[in-house]
Amino acid sequence: MAQFVAPSHLSDGLYFFHGKRQTIASEHTFKVYEPHTGQVVAHCPIADKHSTDKIIEAAHNAQPKWAELTPLERGKILNKVADIIRENQEALAQWEVRTNGKPITEARMDIASSADTFQFFAGVAPAALKGDYFDLPGPAYDRFAYTRREPLGVVGCIGAWNYPFQTCVWKVAPALAAGNAVVYKPSPFAPGSPVLLGEVLSAAGIPDDVYNVIQGEADTGNALCTNDFIRKVSFTGSVPTGQKIQEACAKRNIKPVTLELGGKSPFIIFDDTEIDNAVSGAILANFLNQGQVCTNATRVYVHRRIINEFTEALLKELEKLRVGNPFDEKTNVGANINEDHLKKIEGMVERAVEEGAKLLRGGKRIHPEGFENGFYFDPAVLTNLTENMEIVTDEIFGAVMLLLPFDHEDEVVERANKTGFGLASGLYTRDLRRAHRIAAQLQAGTVFINTYNDTEVFVPFGGFKNSGHGRENCVETLHAYSQVKSVYVNTQPNLEHHLG
Ligand code: NAD
Repeated sequence: MAQFVAPSHLSDGLYFFHGKRQTIASEHTFKVYEPHTGQVVAHCPIADKHSTDKIIEAAHNAQPKWAELTPLERGKILNKVADIIRENQEALAQWEVRTNGKPITEARMDIASSADTFQFFAGVAPAALKGDYFDLPGPAYDRFAYTRREPLGVVGCIGAWNYPFQTCVWKVAPALAAGNAVVYKPSPFAPGSPVLLGEVLSAAGIPDDVYNVIQGEADTGNALCTNDFIRKVSFTGSVPTGQKIQEACAKRNIKPVTLELGGKSPFIIFDDTEIDNAVSGAILANFLNQGQVCTNATRVYVHRRIINEFTEALLKELEKLRVGNPFDEKTNVGANINEDHLKKIEGMVERAVEEGAKLLRGGKRIHPEGFENGFYFDPAVLTNLTENMEIVTDEIFGAVMLLLPFDHEDEVVERANKTGFGLASGLYTRDLRRAHRIAAQLQAGTVFINTYNDTEVFVPFGGFKNSGHGRENCVETLHAYSQVKSVYVNTQPNLEHHLG
């Protein structure tokens, strides 16, 4: 069992199979960028169907031995994974910054919560993966039934790039705890973190081929979804890709799918709110991870009576934002994932302004000293918006806050729900009765009251409506990575039949 040592570079060996970092031969590659410098740091080979199938087959062959362990035995190994992640938190966080461009202070939180995730699933799996017992008519020892909760086999996971390590862990920890093997395909924009996780898992004692990483774009993802050995797909990404994945997972054979998709979350601030508190909440809801958070609440509805006061306090607070070197402890906003994404955000802001929106700050690419080629965007605040503008209806996935005034509770709830997305929502008020009344009406998988963007590994996370289905981060997640078998038993020597 090799000890985990964080590598000094990841320019090759971006695959993980047979228990170690590997590379493969491929005619096609994609470029890997370091967001804060804008440099290309690797050319990653793309897995074609043949390489994908081979790695999945090895996972299929390795899975039964892993499944033979009891959940408690597997849990002991997963607890070691948590320990190794904690021991190497700083090194892993530094890698997360290099991969994704986020500030080091945020990366440390992602790594810490990833360790918690392994610990949580290691702890709950023995109790959650239990079967049940049923008496049947007659003496209990003559006839009864029981259920077994069994693993699915090989689970295919496809991830987004905004939380590269954590997204992977949220899928891999419950999948492994339930006795499955995993083949993970990261986003080509942030391919390294799941490979580091592979080295951690091997160091903790996960058998070879139980956890694997392949690399590629849509074709590789599709090859994963349509492979016969894959018995479930867990996906994090955009709604259009989620639709394709759900379709692909029904084509060759029926596979259950967990879809964690995009959002366009509302954030409602009532006029009884303490303004500074709401300002902090709105900043947290919009500018964490450069605004590249699925739950981001870009639609900030502020009661008309306080909107001027709120805007003034917000703009003053935003003067303190430090955009730049993500390794600097004082930086609040790091680099965006890549140039195309940055241009997409800039384009949405430009079109909004052309349609009549007023830009109150930021909204453009900037070039911080020492990081001139990095993908930096100055967080934007827009006002003078209408509900049907593209920027108000579509997911931005960037640091853009939209200020929208409202007058009445019913009106704002209706406007908040008028979206195909349903991932998250937030509200600020001192009126508890109103807070819970609105929480019950908001059509979203998570509601934050006087807070925003909290995540705990034991609280369910997932979307309503087009934001997806299935939940991560809770005991029920283990049920999505396992299946129930019902066993009917007759212990009598003479079975009575009821035919004729
Ligand atoms: P994306 O949909 O473009 O890509 C996600 C993944 O799917 C990538 O690994 C990509 O290579 C792969 N992919 C693309 N086409 C595919 C296909 N046809 N078949 C199989 N795989 C395919 O999303 P993205 O740009 O990486 O991530 C941003 C999106 O993810 C945003 O919409 C964001 O809201 C969402 N997201 C959701 C959550 C959540 O938990 N709900 C978390 C993070 C991000």
